[in-house]
Amino acid sequence: MTQTLKTKVLIIGAGTGGYVAGIRCGQLGLDTVLVDGGDGLGGTCLNVGCIPSKAIIHAAGKFETVAKAAGGGTLGITAAAPAIDLSQTVEWKDGIVRKLNAGVAALLKKAKVKVIKGWAEFADAKTCVIKTDEGDIRITAEHVILATGSEPVELPFLPFGGDVISSTEALSLSEVPKKMVVVGGGYIGLELGIAYRKLGAEVAIVEMAERILPLYDKALTDPVAKWLEKHGVELHLGARAGGFGDGKLSITTKDGEPLQLDADKVLVTVGRRPRTQGWGLENMGVAMAGPFVKIDQRCATSMKNVWAVGDLTGEPMLAHKGSAQGEVVAEIIAGHDRVFDPVTIAAVCFTEPEIVSAGLGPNEVAGRDDVIQSVFPFAAIGRALAIEAGEDGGSVRVIANKGDHRILGIQAVGQHVSELSNSFAQMLEMGAVLEDVAGTIHVHPTLGEAFHEASLRALGHAIHI
Ligand SMILES: Cc1cc2nc3c(=O)[nH]c(=O)nc-3n(C[C@H](O)[C@H](O)[C@H](O)COP(=O)(O)OP(=O)(O)OC[C@H]3O[C@@H](n4cnc5c(N)ncnc54)[C@H](O)[C@@H]3O)c2cc1C
Repeated sequence: MTQTLKTKVLIIGAGTGGYVAGIRCGQLGLDTVLVDGGDGLGGTCLNVGCIPSKAIIHAAGKFETVAKAAGGGTLGITAAAPAIDLSQTVEWKDGIVRKLNAGVAALLKKAKVKVIKGWAEFADAKTCVIKTDEGDIRITAEHVILATGSEPVELPFLPFGGDVISSTEALSLSEVPKKMVVVGGGYIGLELGIAYRKLGAEVAIVEMAERILPLYDKALTDPVAKWLEKHGVELHLGARAGGFGDGKLSITTKDGEPLQLDADKVLVTVGRRPRTQGWGLENMGVAMAGPFVKIDQRCATSMKNVWAVGDLTGEPMLAHKGSAQGEVVAEIIAGHDRVFDPVTIAAVCFTEPEIVSAGLGPNEVAGRDDVIQSVFPFAAIGRALAIEAGEDGGSVRVIANKGDHRILGIQAVGQHVSELSNSFAQMLEMGAVLEDVAGTIHVHPTLGEAFHEASLRALGHAIHI
């Protein structure tokens, strides 16, 4: 027999968009049901995305450090050659994921959100049936928040399965492949490709564009390209992947030549697409914007009281965008006057070295003579040298209006720069001018001093260069 349930708010998807919306709805006293069909609360980010990838990247960094010490010593430290049991590393990573799954469950419980494990299907915009192991539940809700996220794009000639894997499988391999070919040189492919290189795999990257990380400007990606070169990662730019068989991936090089690359695993990371199929979205009558669900500044869809957040709603497909949207929607439903209108959504590549971009970059201000651009290298920052983060070509760049010195964009490339991303976003969100950064006493010795110096330099009086 189908059970029926009525609620004020029904949220589909417990990723960073949906679960944060759920917690905030609960905090605001809204009767809320959250449905997720995945294996653990937290969606892609927590289970097979941001967190597990950063755990594997961290483990790879540790392995590399010991390998360096073994290969001739580093900083006077020597060690025996490291070995890795990747299944144990994966078990450690899974432990972190389980801890966070439980943490999200506890937070939702505290906020009095009812969580249902099951797959939601809509017959129309307000009628939803949840298929659970215990039978169907029909839910009617005053408000529906769609947060079904995204999934990896599959290439028709390289379907996932066997040794052709997506990022999900790459995060749970039982051993380090001897040879890995990464198809797609965006941030997910590079983060994982670099991690596997550090773990000892021979890695090749096949990218259709002329550069890796084509969404970032060249000055930011050059240090990453240098790292790849220095560490023997084979780069095939302007190249197209073809089929895979007998341990060989066929590619067509930039010059149109056919080439076979040996591969124990082919990691396909050619992008992610919004999850719009298989749950009755087509029955809801919501307008689309290309492949995404169309929303306005309130995250409202074209259907009254149907809202959408996260990857389903468009670029940037980043966890923190979805959570911020989730909070906004919960507050709007509770009667607050809110819009989702951020000055910036900073993006980070956890490559080697890392890249941060917030606000306008040089490509967006190209040809404008009313802006100042200033770069300060980590090579001139004591802290960077003291932690071996000063010699990989890293720097911080600030772009500001020439007239009123309002900061328009801040980017950085270098080790650990992900930790600077929030300070960049804060400055942009608060409408800071160069003098605000220049006038803030930055702690010494820290990497953040490069941001201070880049701002001083834009004003014409950097101290340490
Ligand atoms: C390898 C990798 C690394 C990443 N690293 C980063 C990073 O460092 N920083 C960053 O910001 N972002 C990162 N991302 C992107 C980030 O994971 C996504 O932007 C984020 O998870 C999107 O959140 P979401 O809430 O929109 O959807 P998702 O996290 O995709 O969650 C959607 C949930 O909805 C459920 N669902 C879907 N349809 C239904 C249905 N019909 N019924 C029931 N449940 C349903 C799914 O099971 C899933 O649990 C990474 C992604 C990957 C793959």
